[in-house]
Amino acid sequence: MSSRVNASYFPQAERVAIFGGTHGNEMSGVTLVNMWIKNRAEIERSGVAVRAFITNPRAVEKCSRYIDTDLNRAFTPENLSTASGDGLPYEVQRAKEVNQIFGPKGSPDAYDVIFDLHNTTSNMGSTLILESSTDYFNLQMVHYIKKAIAPESCMVLLNEHPHLKYATTRSVAKHPVGLEVGPQPQGVLRSNIFESMRAIMKHALDFIELFNSGVEFPACSVEVFRVHERVDYPRDTNGNITAMVHPHLQDCDWEPLNPGDPMFQTFDGRTIPYEGASPVYPTFINEAAYYEKQQACITTRRETLAANAIRKISK
Ligand SMILES: [Zn+2]
Repeated sequence: MSSRVNASYFPQAERVAIFGGTHGNEMSGVTLVNMWIKNRAEIERSGVAVRAFITNPRAVEKCSRYIDTDLNRAFTPENLSTASGDGLPYEVQRAKEVNQIFGPKGSPDAYDVIFDLHNTTSNMGSTLILESSTDYFNLQMVHYIKKAIAPESCMVLLNEHPHLKYATTRSVAKHPVGLEVGPQPQGVLRSNIFESMRAIMKHALDFIELFNSGVEFPACSVEVFRVHERVDYPRDTNGNITAMVHPHLQDCDWEPLNPGDPMFQTFDGRTIPYEGASPVYPTFINEAAYYEKQQACITTRRETLAANAIRKISK
């Protein structure tokens, strides 16, 4: 039986955007996107219009994560449908503008693919973030990228959780892709992180060009880490943090954490173990931006997703 029988068909990806500065102090994305706005040669591919775009210019100018509220949580149906006006938080106003240019979210007019470039202070390496386990276009793309950058590694975080999924900037697109590269401090550029991000974007755009040229990508499987739980720091009754990430867990993103393994260390040196019932894979461990979100790490579970073959719908 030909794989074509089970192939999924998608239209040509005609409009692609690369977002930087959704968080204004995540410097690799800000710098790459500003570079590509000045000179687009590196991101040009035949058969597709690629647009580089700074999503939160005021936060970039201030080199802060955001001005009023986190832009990467602002793309809710309520925000996007609220009337424009002077009283709106800056990022809500900005979300409406981004949705107008690249969306509307959920409509046939939305951009085909949006890449949103982020940095993390966690030791996550290069991580692609997907929002759906059944978006075969994106699964095929991350499969292609993982193969292309080997032996360098690129993890895939799947945020499909019914409560923990949030309204991202990239969610405006039909195929949203987050790219998170670390560790890199906020407001800092590190050449190795910059080059990792740049290499992944090169392969991502190559994939889109190949897909648009009519190449069929055969069925494949992709290892992903599915978001499981958000874990807060231990706190006292006043809400103050009483323990730090344990040295045995610090920088061990994507490594298994088994029941009983050390998770936190109190200020007087006591170890608090992981008390879950089964092994998990923590990531975003001790991310600087997540203290305000009361999040010490997220735990994930590893699974393998199957992706159908994909092909372009012929015109
Ligand atoms: Zn970010």
